[in-house]
Amino acid sequence: DDGDHVPALVIGSGYGGSVAALRLTRAGIATAVVEMGMAWNTAGPDGKIFCDMLDPDRRSYWLRTRTDQPVGYFLGIDANRSIERYTGVLDSERFAGIRVYQGRGVGGGSLVNGGMAVVPRRDYLAEILPSVDAAAMYATYFPRATAALGVNAVDPAWFETADCYRYARVSRDQARASGYATTFLPNVYDFGYMRQEQAGTVPRSALASEVIYGNNHGKRSLDKTYLAAAAATGRLTITAQHVVTAVAPAPAGGWAVTMNQLATTGGTVATKTVRADRVFFAAGSVGTSKLLVAMRAQGRLPDLPAAVGQGWGNNGNVMVARAQHLWNTTGALQSGMPAVGIDNWADPAGPVFAEIAPFPAGTELWISLYLAITKNPNRAQFAYDSATGTVGLTWRTAQNQPAVAAAKRVFDTINKAQVTVYRSDLFGVNKVWGDDLTYHPLGGCVLGRATDDYGRLPGHPGLYVIDGSLIPGSTGVNPFVTITALAERNIERIIATDLA
Ligand code: FAD
Repeated sequence: DDGDHVPALVIGSGYGGSVAALRLTRAGIATAVVEMGMAWNTAGPDGKIFCDMLDPDRRSYWLRTRTDQPVGYFLGIDANRSIERYTGVLDSERFAGIRVYQGRGVGGGSLVNGGMAVVPRRDYLAEILPSVDAAAMYATYFPRATAALGVNAVDPAWFETADCYRYARVSRDQARASGYATTFLPNVYDFGYMRQEQAGTVPRSALASEVIYGNNHGKRSLDKTYLAAAAATGRLTITAQHVVTAVAPAPAGGWAVTMNQLATTGGTVATKTVRADRVFFAAGSVGTSKLLVAMRAQGRLPDLPAAVGQGWGNNGNVMVARAQHLWNTTGALQSGMPAVGIDNWADPAGPVFAEIAPFPAGTELWISLYLAITKNPNRAQFAYDSATGTVGLTWRTAQNQPAVAAAKRVFDTINKAQVTVYRSDLFGVNKVWGDDLTYHPLGGCVLGRATDDYGRLPGHPGLYVIDGSLIPGSTGVNPFVTITALAERNIERIIATDLA
C-alpha cells in the first residue's frame, strides 16, 4: 500500500523475479513482488482461465483491439481479428523495427512460452558471459534451475507413435535426410499429462491449440513452481496489475518505488509509492531496460552507467515455414509444445538452432513451421525520447539480415533435398521470413558492463538487475533456463554478501 516500507521489492514476476522471490523469502526476508499483468487464477465465463489460439478473445493480448499473431497471415490474408481492449496475457510490444512478444501476468513469460527448457552450449555460454564461472554454472546453477522449474523429457518411444507429434517427426526426418542433426528438447510441460491428453483421458491443453495465450492444464509455469514455493514460506506478497513507473532514492534511506494500479482496460486506478531497502529489477529485458533508461534520463537515477540501455539483441530469432507435399501430412492434431530442434550450431558459416514449431490450426495444412535461433551479431540500444517521455529501441528490421541468411542456408538445403518450397503467405504477402519479431529479447543491462558481475548496479547500493536484460543479446538456445540459472547464481552471492 501507499507509504509502506518493505525490505525487498521485486519488479516483475518472470524468471528472474521468481528466483529472487524464492531465494529471498527462503533466506527469511519479507519480499514484495509487483507485477503489471494479472494474476491468472480465475476462470472466465467459459470456465477457462486462458483462451486458445483458434478463438482468441480479450484474454489473449495486452491492451490491443486487434490480435497480432506472430504468424499473422494465411494465403496472404490478414488472419487477425478484433478483440476487446484488456490486460491480456501476451504483449506484442511494437518498436520501430521489431515486435517484441512478452508474457504479462504473475509468472511473466512462463505463462505464454513454449516451455522449451534448453541448457546452452558450454563454449557459447563462456563466450557470451566470460566473467561467469562456467564450471559452477553447469555443476550447480543449471541443475538447480532445471529442478526447480520442473523440467522433464518426452518419452522417445511414445514420441514416435503419438499423433500430436507427427508434424515434428516429418520435419525431423526431412532435416536428417538433408544432412542435419536433430535433438529432443526438454520442456516444463508435463509430458505425462500430454500422454493422457493424447489418450483422451484428461482435458486437453497442449493438444487443444493452447500455448501463446496460456495453457489451462499441464504447464509448470512459474506460478506453480518458484512462486508457489516462495508463497509457502509465508513471506511473499504479490501485487498484480501494478506497473512500476519510477525508482529514485528515498529521503528516509533506501529506494522510493512508484507504481500505478491498472484497470483491466489499462487506465490508472491509483498511484502509490512504497519505500524498499532493496529493489530487484526483474521486468524482463525490455521492461528493466526501459525503466532504468527513463530513470537516468529523467534525473531520478542520473548516475547509472552509460552501458544501461545498451547491448540489446533478439537472440537471432527468425521464423519460416515450408510447404509439404500432399503425401507428407503434418497432422490436424499438433502439440503446442515443441519437442525437437534442428541443431546446426556448430556450422561456422552460420550457426542455427531451429525449433520445429507447431502450427496448431486444428486441420491438416501441410505446413512445417520453424523458429530459428541464430548468431546475429547486431545489437541495439534503448533511447529516451524527452518529447513523449517514452523509451524506444533503435533496432532496425534490416539488422536481422544475418539471421535470415543463416536460416536460409539450412532451409534452402532442406527444400532442395526434399524438393519442397517455402510458404510465402504467412508473414505477409509474398514474404518468406518472419524477420520483424522476437520471442527472445535479451540484454539492455548486460552483466559486467551495466552491472557488476552479480547484477549490482554500481554506485547504487541495494539496486539489482536479475532478469534477461543481463544476457548480452544471445544465448544460442531458448533463453529461460539460462536466465533462471544466472539469477540463481547471482542471488546466492547477493544474499550471502549483501543481506547477511
Ligand atoms: P519476463 O518473463 O518477461 O518477466 C518480466 C515480468 O515483468 C513480466 O511479467 C512483465 O509483465 C513484468 N513487468 C514488466 N515491466 C514492469 C513494470 N514496469 N512494472 C511491473 N511489472 C513489470 N524461452 C524459452 O526458454 N523456451 C521457450 O519455449 C520459449 N518460448 C517462448 C514463446 C513465446 C510466445 C514468448 C513470448 C517467449 C518465449 N520464450 C521462451 C522466452 C522466455 O519466455 C523469456 O526469455 C523469459 O520469460 C524472460 O524472462 P525474464 O525474467 O527476463 O522476464
